Amino acid sequence: MIKLDTVNLHLNQKHILKDIQLDIDPSDFLSIIGPSGAGKSTLLNMLIGGVKPSSGDVYVNNVNIKYLKPNAMQVYRRRIGMVWQHFHLLPGQSVYENIAFAAQIFAHSKIKQKNMVLKALEKVNLGSKANHKIHMLSGGERQRCAIARAIVNNPYLLIADEPTGNLDPQSSHDILELLKDINAHGMTVVLVTHDKQLVDSLNRRVVLMESGCITRDLANSSYICA
Ligand code: ADP
Repeated sequence: MIKLDTVNLHLNQKHILKDIQLDIDPSDFLSIIGPSGAGKSTLLNMLIGGVKPSSGDVYVNNVNIKYLKPNAMQVYRRRIGMVWQHFHLLPGQSVYENIAFAAQIFAHSKIKQKNMVLKALEKVNLGSKANHKIHMLSGGERQRCAIARAIVNNPYLLIADEPTGNLDPQSSHDILELLKDINAHGMTVVLVTHDKQLVDSLNRRVVLMESGCITRDLANSSYICA
């Protein structure tokens, strides 16, 4: 359970997040939409502890993460998986190596690492390309590899920041189906996107951000984004 309680953020004399109230349930697949500059990425950054509120609190499973010391914050971040628009994979390495790089944080033995990587590859249906170098993959395959890396350590929260921003419609659809499947298996998913069609097809909870505020919080995507 994640709770943002009256969160405000001031940076360089700018009021970036304004009185944010947001509860995220473990079963949620939450989409955050809104125009560029609305504060979406800053909100994600706050969820991963990259920035602390100027006032207000961020509780994760009843722990106020604003008070976590650097070591505890590092441990906290390891329980969150991240997926980005530009993948951020190691291009000269194989699919397997990219995922194993993340798995080694929790798995010290090579055998355990291998089991975890193979399981993650199976979830994203990329097992047949385990030995392919990243540059040999399509955009959709790269994103599936990035998702496998993000979930290999079984985080409780998966954050996806414009994960389909570089993909064609079919690959975008496939990535969304994959995220839905991951959510159905018990992982909280928070998605930031400007893609209204994508959000509409989800039919799940949508939060609209504008000028640093949450201006709408809907249980499904019937809202037409301005
Ligand atoms: P979005 O992800 O919705 O496009 P951002 O969260 O990236 O929006 O940015 C929200 C606002 O905060 C923007 O106006 C941006 O310029 C501003 N901003 C982000 N980081 C800083 C910073 N370190 N100092 C000052 N302003 C910032």
